Amino acid sequence: MSKGKKIGLFFGSFNPVHTGHMVIANYMATQTELDEVWLIVSPQNPFKKSNSLADQYSRLHLVKLAIGDTPKLRASDIEFKLPKPSYTIDTLTFLREEYPDKQFSLIMGGDNLPTLPKWKNYEVILRDYSIYVYQRPGVSDLGELADHPSVHLQEAPLMQLSATYVRRCIKAGKSIRYLVPDAVAEELERSGLYR
Ligand code: ATP
Repeated sequence: MSKGKKIGLFFGSFNPVHTGHMVIANYMATQTELDEVWLIVSPQNPFKKSNSLADQYSRLHLVKLAIGDTPKLRASDIEFKLPKPSYTIDTLTFLREEYPDKQFSLIMGGDNLPTLPKWKNYEVILRDYSIYVYQRPGVSDLGELADHPSVHLQEAPLMQLSATYVRRCIKAGKSIRYLVPDAVAEELERSGLYR
């Protein structure tokens, strides 16, 4: 049974998307067996108002700007339409039904792997989906799941950068040049988001 395109799913709040995210996404899209990487923007939780989390459509727009015409990368708003909170297994199941010709995998940082057993239906995730894991700084022990046949460890280049840091720079009026793609920096400047 050979399925169509292999799609790696990279989930995040992308508040805002930054160069660290884009380096991982592009690495996974170009240096693994994956054919495409979809950046899936997490929706707002209507019951959990956070004042530092920008509106979901603004975050999605920034991800689209970050991607531009980069081959093999796509922005996805699929979770905006799903019941909240969105559990990864539910999103995966939905995507399988929506795109029966595609083969979906997860992309996650090594820091997330040891917590996978806390995820809803994690045995199903591990049984039915590949997981591409990239090393995070300071995380040396990936736990026992590192040896699971569905887990593929990747040596991707890493940047010590977080969205929190980018937001802090903006608030403090500091430059975010190179921390985010140029088109994202321009849009943040124009919109005043996070200021
Ligand atoms: P925040 O600082 O607001 O918590 P973040 O930078 O961690 O945000 P997320 O949207 O939570 O951004 O990130 C999406 C995914 O990307 C998460 O799995 C996160 O662990 C990972 N990630 C975040 N920053 C980096 C980075 N510099 N390099 C690699 N992966 C990253």
